[in-house]
Parts: sequence; C-alpha cells; structure tokens
Amino acid sequence: MEAAAQFLVESPDVVYGPEAIEARYEYRTTRVSREGGALKVHPTSTRFTFRTARQVPRLGVMLVGWGGNNGSTLTAAVLANRLRLSWPTRAGRKEANYYGSLTQAGTVSLGLDAEGQEVFVPFNALLPMVAPNDLVFDGWDISSLNLAEAMRRAQVLDWGLQEQLWPHMEGLRPRPSVYIPEFIASNQSARADNLIPGTRAQQLEQIRRDIRDFRSSAELDKVIVLWTANTERFCDVVPGLNDTAENLLRTIELGLEVSPSTLFAVASILEGCAFLNGSPQNTLVPGALELAWQRRVFVGGDDFKSGQTKVKSVLVDFLISSGLKTMSIVSYNHLGNNDGRNLSAPQQFRSKEVSKSSVVDDMVHSNPVLYAPGEKPDHCVVIKYVPYVGDSKRALDEYTSELMLGGTNTLVLHNTCEDSLLAAPIMLDLALLTELCQRVSFCTDDDPEPQTFHPVLSLLSFLFKAPLVPPGSPVVNALFRQRSCIENILRCARGLLGAVGRAPGGAGG
Ligand code: NAD
Repeated sequence: MEAAAQFLVESPDVVYGPEAIEARYEYRTTRVSREGGALKVHPTSTRFTFRTARQVPRLGVMLVGWGGNNGSTLTAAVLANRLRLSWPTRAGRKEANYYGSLTQAGTVSLGLDAEGQEVFVPFNALLPMVAPNDLVFDGWDISSLNLAEAMRRAQVLDWGLQEQLWPHMEGLRPRPSVYIPEFIASNQSARADNLIPGTRAQQLEQIRRDIRDFRSSAELDKVIVLWTANTERFCDVVPGLNDTAENLLRTIELGLEVSPSTLFAVASILEGCAFLNGSPQNTLVPGALELAWQRRVFVGGDDFKSGQTKVKSVLVDFLISSGLKTMSIVSYNHLGNNDGRNLSAPQQFRSKEVSKSSVVDDMVHSNPVLYAPGEKPDHCVVIKYVPYVGDSKRALDEYTSELMLGGTNTLVLHNTCEDSLLAAPIMLDLALLTELCQRVSFCTDDDPEPQTFHPVLSLLSFLFKAPLVPPGSPVVNALFRQRSCIENILRCARGLLGAVGRAPGGAGG
C-alpha cells in the first residue's frame, strides 16, 4: 500500500483519479499598502487547483562526493533499512531507522477524532512519495575508494553494522570526478586519485555521459544530482564570465574559471536533472540559475541545515518573537572529520562562515520594535579542526539578549553528535521532496494554464542553511515557518484545507 493511501479526504474539493490527486484550495491572504503614512490592509483570495501525479518513479540519486562521510553514510543508511539490519552495541541491539528525516520520521496532524484526540499520520502519507528503500545510488568522487572502504574511513557507523554492510558496499565505486585544486583546501590533494581528464568542455560532457549511463543502466525514470563534496571557495561573479547562461556555457567551452560544483550543476541542468547543493559555496551563480530557468529544471541550495544552524533558527526566532532583544550570537565548533580538515583552510572556512551568518536576518527584520533600521546582533562563527573527535562534532553557542530595565539574559548550548548522521536524513528528504515537486502542478481560476513551482525550489528552505529563493523573494530562515511552508503546500495538494501561513506561490512557487 502506498503510504498516501492511509487516509482519504472526503470533500467535494478533492478528486482521487487513477493517475492523479486533484485538489482545490482557496488561499486567503492580505496585501498591505502604504498610503500617506498609514498602512492599509486588503484581504485577497485566490483559488488554486493542485494536481499531483500518483505514480512514483524509479529514482536514482547521484552524489558528488559519494565516498565522503555524508555520501557513504547515506548509502549505508538506505542499505541498512532495506536489509532490515540490526547490530549489537554496548547499549543493546540497534535497528536501522530513518530518525532525523522529516518525510520518514515526522508526522502531521489530520484533525480531531470523535473523542477529541488529535490524529497524526507520517509526513510521507500526505502525498505519494518515493520510498527511500527503493532509491538507487551512484556518484562521483575524486577519491577512488569503494563505498565499503569509504564507510570505514568515515568512522561514523558501529563496527557490527559496518561488517554486515561491507559485502553490499564494496562493489560500489565512485566515478572519476573533476578536481580543480584551487577550489578546495590543499590538504585534500592526497585523496585526489580518481579524476576526469581533459578540458572543462570535455569534463562537462563526461559528467553528462555518466548521468545518461546511470539512467539507462539502472533503468531509472529520473535522476537527481546532489553535491555533498567538499566545501569550495566562493567563485567571483563576473560579468561576461558566469552572469548569464550563455556566458557560463561559453566560459566552460573556452576553459575559463568555473568551479567543479558549477560544472556539475550545469551538466545536471542540461540533462534535465534537478541539482541540489549541500555545501555553502555559491555554486548556483546567476548563469546557472538562468540556465535552470530556461530549461525548467529544479535547483536548490545552499548547505545542508543539520545541527547548530537548525537550533539557531529556532532559538533566535523564539527570543525575538518573545520580545527579547538578542544582541550577540557566538557560535564555536570543533570537529575532526575530513569536512573539518577542509574547512581549516581560510577560503573554505569563509564560505561556511557566510552561509552560517545570514541565518537570523529575517527574524531581526521582523521586529522593528526592538531593532532600529540597520541594527543587528553581533554574530561570530568559529570552526576548528580537532582530528581526535572525528565525525562527532561539538557545537557551542552563546546567545545574549537584552531584558527589560537593563537586564541581560545569556543562554549557552553545547551540542555533540555525529555530523553525518544528521546530514544523511536531510539529503534523503531533499531528494524525495524535490522528486515530489516534479509531479505537482497547479493553476488558479484566473490563470488556468498549469504551472510548476519556480525552478529555484525555495520550498526546500527547511533543509538548507542559506536558502536559495527566486530573485526578489524574501528569504525565510525561521525553522517552523519553513516547515509550515512544506507542510501547507502538501496539505493543499492533498485537499486538507485549513492550511495556514504563506501563499503556496510565494513560498514555493
Ligand atoms: P567529506 O570530506 O567526508 O566528503 C566529501 C567528499 O567529497 C570526499 O570524499 C572528497 O574526496 C570528495 N570531493 C571533493 N571534491 C570533489 C569533487 N570535485 N568531485 C567529487 N568529489 C569530491 O565531507 P562530508 O562530511 O561528507 O561533508 C560534505 C559536504 O557537506 C561538506 O561541504 C560539508 O561542509 C557539507 N555539509 C555537511 C554537513 C553535515 O552535517 N555533515 C552539514 C552541512 C553541510
């Protein structure tokens, strides 16, 4: 039984056809205008019809950086769940699960039953979604280790689990990749033994061939490409170089400066495959965004939102929305995995620092009672590489806020956990939600022409630290507004009316 068949919405606004679920939804909101110093609020309403194709495809996910901690951990997690593995630990037997995944371990409320009790269903029951156990993985890495050896190198999983997974992973070998030394830290050079030779144009062609080869050899309906390779330095956005789709394609043709991640983004878009950027660098330069727009291919980014930033986007929302004036946020991290090693170089750290820093801007902006125009908290981010702690990342945060009558409140948080076990379920959600969005279309009573979401998939903001949004759209960082955005759009498409919050079009369209 598909998870979405767990409930039916009995409403004249919903039609369950064999091919698609069609749901009508009236979205009521307000438009605000400023007239001579006064604010005028105008209620508006738009009738949407959502159509979601029910048939889930056979989905392949290609990971750039497949042999890294995230790539090997995600692959291991799906295999462990598919094989229903359990293994002994000093705290007893553990079983494979998908904790940390919004779609697999989150729930939504359907409403109250006759006894007044709230009824919850799994998030993935809202609409037909690909089951994670059915995903097929492939990918690229500049390091040639097979996935079993990569899992061992990562030192994330319990030994008993690694032993059971070994025979299932040793045959998985990353495809050669593009290595341009100046984009990642020089301390990564030793693992770069699996490379695509040739000019940038030839490398682009090879990546495109790899995608086509995977699609046909694994008999897939769709492929999604996800960058989980090392953090690169930022790329300068230069007119004539990467500011338009045409210029970016010419830059690749001429062998001028382009980052490996942008090369992968361009290859994916040209192959009609959604591309998601799990690292902080500006992979999706304006030329890549324009290409995605022209080809109507989904792109999303930037930087998985796993631990510290997730807490920050909850805590600062809580403080400022409670009327406390947060004035200082200091975040300190130390970690000892290869990501931490790469981030110990200044330019790669800078990409991460930028990505981590913008996360409270919308919350500050939302409260002009507390903050004068242009005023914002001090925000400092420190990352240190400490090899001994491996993938077990430590994050220490201090939040200082002003209370009434000159008081001060300081909150200190200490968070320890395996970084890749936080990131892997997020990668899963990204792939599953992106694929679902490819099957949803909508129209309005005023414009009956079916539309899809905007190619810059801002609906994924919940899962990214520095969410990419369509040009001119506001960035929302507050975590529960981001979650509501996903939930509300899925509710609308399922005919579960009463969704509240942001416009489906404004949030994800
Ligand atoms: P990792 O260093 O273990 O893995 C990265 C892999 O990418 C390595 O195997 C490396 O060989 C490979 N690689 C580097 N350049 C490549 C290229 N051009 N093509 C193909 N492969 C390449 O790091 P990780 O812990 O898996 O993290 C991956 C990325 O995800 C990092 O950029 C990190 O900042 C980002 N990220 C991680 C988390 C988390 O919680 N783990 C959260 C947010 C973002």
